[in-house]
Amino acid sequence: MTPTTKPTLSVYWASSCGGCEIALANLHEKILDVDAHFTLFFCPCLLDTKKSDVEAVPDGSLDITLFNGAVRTSENEEMAHLLRRKSKILIATGACACGGGIPALANIQAPASFFETIYRQNPTIDNPGNVVPRPSTAVNEGTLAIPAFFDRVRTLAQTVDVDYIMPGCPPEPKQLWAVIELIVQGKPLPPKGSVIGAGQSSVCEECERKRSEDRKITRLFRTYELVPEPEKCLLEQGIVCMGPATRDGCGGLCPNVNMPCIGCYGPPAGIVDQGAKMAALLGSLMDIEPLKELDEEAIFKRTRGTVSTLPDVAGTFYKFSMAGSMLRQAASPREGGQAR
Ligand code: SF4
Ligand code: SF4
Repeated sequence: MTPTTKPTLSVYWASSCGGCEIALANLHEKILDVDAHFTLFFCPCLLDTKKSDVEAVPDGSLDITLFNGAVRTSENEEMAHLLRRKSKILIATGACACGGGIPALANIQAPASFFETIYRQNPTIDNPGNVVPRPSTAVNEGTLAIPAFFDRVRTLAQTVDVDYIMPGCPPEPKQLWAVIELIVQGKPLPPKGSVIGAGQSSVCEECERKRSEDRKITRLFRTYELVPEPEKCLLEQGIVCMGPATRDGCGGLCPNVNMPCIGCYGPPAGIVDQGAKMAALLGSLMDIEPLKELDEEAIFKRTRGTVSTLPDVAGTFYKFSMAGSMLRQAASPREGGQAR
């Protein structure tokens, strides 16, 4: 299979859920424009193009590749290198490729514990031989091979050189289209390394809820614990809304329908670590006035009580950005890229 005269568009998913492909399908009738301007060359969820077809084209001959998903396995890594070599423009697409996404929350556990939980202790598994996946297994007929499982989930940019970053879980179709339209119309592309299909500020700028000047919170609530007031900032009501620590671009989808932002566009421009930004902000919002009269032990108990109302700190602050954060990996003893 060889590319035609139209520019080629390739779409690949590594460790991800498929939502980014759904975002492409959600372009609705604009998908016909995509078809009019591009030849879809490689897209495993839609086409039967094989890896060998990609290997067969000259290096740098694929025009645009949207790579979604984190790099969790040796197969993800191999495809990242292959598509980098073959593509003129490689775009890290979606939260998993950009920041590690949900798969990278696994970085806070030692990899051996996943296999223990999933293959040995899982009550629905019958595994008397204590078998866990291995990259290669000798059988009578030869050697069976599966991709190796890395110790650490990485972003695409931590694996290969990336031209652009397009965040979101998934990227909003209108943002995806804005990028495709730019290319279709032959307009100048932003400088290499730019974040595209998103804004520069935070979700709060797109949110319709009202913020007060003097906001203080005394405790945190999970979403099922209260029905939030419809017009007031969720954070001021004690619901952890990641809006201030999340890049704009979605239009404030979640807070505008009474749900807190959970951070899927990653940190705003200029913020290195989304979780650290949010933790600092929450600290500044806590109302410490009532604590001033208390002794040290009472303050400790009270603040610990407040923090304990946030049940999953990593999953709240780093739900989509763990691999790209300063933490990157909290529990595993080795750096990433090491196959088990
Ligand atoms: S509800 Fe969330 S996104 Fe909206 S203003 Fe408050 S913190 Fe920002
Ligand atoms: S509000 Fe936050 S979680 Fe919801 S779509 Fe926008 S960036 Fe993602």
